[in-house]
Amino acid sequence: MTNKIFLSESEAPTHWYNVVADMPNPPTPPLGPDGQPIGPDALAAIFPEALIEQEMSAERWIPIPEAVQEALRIWRPTPLIRARRLEQALGTPARIYYKNESVSPAGSHKLNTAVAQAYYNQQAGIRRLATETGAGQWGCSLALAGQLFGIEVRVYMVKVSYHQKPYRRSLMQTWGAEVFASPTEMTASGRKLLALDPDSPGSLGAAISEAVEEAAGRADTNYALGSVLNHVLLHQTVIGLEAKKQLEMIGEYPDVVYAPCGGGSNFGGIAFPFFADKAAGREIELVAVEPTSCPTLTRGIYAYDFGDAIGLTPLTKMYTLGHDFMPPGIHAGGLRYHGDSALVSQLYHEGLLSAVAIPQLETFEAGVLFARSEGIVPAPESTHAIAAAIREARRCTESGEAKSLLLNLSGHGYFDMASYDAYFAGQLQNYDYPEAAIQAALSHLPLGR
Ligand SMILES: *Cc1c(COP(=O)(O)O)cnc(C)c1O
Repeated sequence: MTNKIFLSESEAPTHWYNVVADMPNPPTPPLGPDGQPIGPDALAAIFPEALIEQEMSAERWIPIPEAVQEALRIWRPTPLIRARRLEQALGTPARIYYKNESVSPAGSHKLNTAVAQAYYNQQAGIRRLATETGAGQWGCSLALAGQLFGIEVRVYMVKVSYHQKPYRRSLMQTWGAEVFASPTEMTASGRKLLALDPDSPGSLGAAISEAVEEAAGRADTNYALGSVLNHVLLHQTVIGLEAKKQLEMIGEYPDVVYAPCGGGSNFGGIAFPFFADKAAGREIELVAVEPTSCPTLTRGIYAYDFGDAIGLTPLTKMYTLGHDFMPPGIHAGGLRYHGDSALVSQLYHEGLLSAVAIPQLETFEAGVLFARSEGIVPAPESTHAIAAAIREARRCTESGEAKSLLLNLSGHGYFDMASYDAYFAGQLQNYDYPEAAIQAALSHLPLGR
């Protein structure tokens, strides 16, 4: 009985897959402050040309530079694992597979794009990168990638996480990055937010404002974003390309694919290579899983909005809860971003992707069951995909259907044990983000609804 399906390094993808080539409609363009589509120039102050080209490309296959392939080989290809013990614990006839992205040195899928972004910035002669991080996964990935390609990294870390996850901060520092609790007094954006609320716990949107402001103001410094943008999702497609090959090797094809969805990068990464088949007529369901406390796809609206809290970024047409959305303090499972990838949003809007929101107690319960059956303690983000797959596996138990389910284990939770502690101590509650708060945030959309 096969449990783990490996690819050799020589079978690793040599090209990224660009879903734009298979979308029924062209992607909606990002807009400038005047409401007009922006050109590549508008991004040149903070991104290298190669990434801007990828951001706007409609080419189906984009070659992965040799130096990036070499960096990816530090931990890739990642294993695909049949979760037999989880299946047994559920007594389900479903077959459950997970792609184990937790084996990257930084502990999640985010290193896949971090190495690519560091490489292209190095090639463009950039010496420093500024970025934000929430729970710390992205900051860690960029810190290590910066180290691999000789680039200094400065991280604005959401203040509440900075205090809750001290070892993520230590890890970033071990890989040579500077880390500050955001909002800081170091940027105009940070000072503006602190003037509004001196005790602000921070938010991803706020930390993005600080990092973008710094990158825009310094010639030697660029900005790097860990999710949402088209080029980030492109880099993450190595996950789905590998998984497809691995399933093929054992004669499998999934009925449903699940991934946690914050900004959409690991979801796009595993789902888009399968979307190519769906566009060609094959039946497959691709499910983005989000928290009920930050229900961007399931309860947000599809409109142009800023990517950050202050309004420094271009406007993106996406599902949004409003750029001044503040995630509830009670929420422990990550996936807190107010918006979502434009590509994921558009395909979801067109009915080609699915989404489900899951309350946090169910996600932690799923995470604990996974840990006790499969061994790995999942990142709280990843538990969302696990919980959704468990729901389907239980439906299979009732119906007797033997579906094939694939989920993305986007990362491990070994630096998130404070969240598990809070769960075990009974300190977490389910929380549906209040409709009135969503409506209030949505009343500030820059172009209206
Ligand atoms: C950042 C992160 C996510 C969510 O981000 P996406 O861009 O939606 O993938 C999910 N899982 C883990 C482990 C993460 O670190």
